Amino acid sequence: MGATPLTGQPGRSRTDSRINRTMMKPRPTPSAPAESSATRAPLRLEKSESEVALGWLHTARFLTTAPQLHFLPDLDIPEIAFVGRSNAGKSTCINTLTQQKQLAFASKKPGRTQHINLFSLGKQGVMDAVLTDLPGYGYAAVPRQEKVRWQQVMANYLVTRKNLRGIVLMCDPRLGLTELDEVLLDLLRPRVQEGLKFLVVLTKADKLTRSEATKALSIARLQAGGGEVRLFSATKRTGIDEVAALLWAWAHPSVNATATADVEAVTPAA
Ligand code: GDP
Repeated sequence: MGATPLTGQPGRSRTDSRINRTMMKPRPTPSAPAESSATRAPLRLEKSESEVALGWLHTARFLTTAPQLHFLPDLDIPEIAFVGRSNAGKSTCINTLTQQKQLAFASKKPGRTQHINLFSLGKQGVMDAVLTDLPGYGYAAVPRQEKVRWQQVMANYLVTRKNLRGIVLMCDPRLGLTELDEVLLDLLRPRVQEGLKFLVVLTKADKLTRSEATKALSIARLQAGGGEVRLFSATKRTGIDEVAALLWAWAHPSVNATATADVEAVTPAA
């Protein structure tokens, strides 16, 4: 990847030291000749974690749509799936993260609402991950038959999708987790214990007061087991950087591991 790897703490400390150097540099006196652009050292600003992550997410392109699981292409790159009940804000969240107005609304076209839609990700035309938009499941009053069908699809997807790296569950915190969300959590638990990443995104956070948001976060944290929880608002642009950085890290564990190893190598033992 051409982009600066996510370095977390080391990136920050490099930036800090640059700021300190800049602050310590004596200001030129009015009589001193101005530095010419030829002699001035180029100021190389490092990209923050979220900038790298958002740049990567912006590469999202529609890859394929499948009416059923067995039509999905076999892939050996990390896959991150978005799930949630209809109207939870899933399409808006995908569009916001990828900074594209229409991407996930492809999933809302008539005849496509029950399809599984895949979006490729990767810089310089090299696909290094996929986002999967799984069909939104019904409103509260869903016929039993449909619930059973959805449970089978989810269970099969979780079992058969070998390249699945993470699941993002969208939840409108004003409604809380529904029965089918709970079913999903039960299905997920064994795979999360085996290392599958899991994030609950509490959508439409702009509709919550500060105390409601705090409460929603603590409830979701209890329900999410080993998973992460983040507040998200497309309108107020809350949580975008954090969610983007998490997804990037999930899809690039080796880069993170290398970055961690680099830190360990340069950090003197305490
Ligand atoms: P999906 O069915 O889960 O894909 O949900 P959509 O993305 O279509 O969103 C459902 C509704 O919630 C739409 O009317 C969106 O405009 C609205 N919505 C989505 N995200 C937000 C948000 O962050 N804030 C607010 N206030 N409304 C949102």
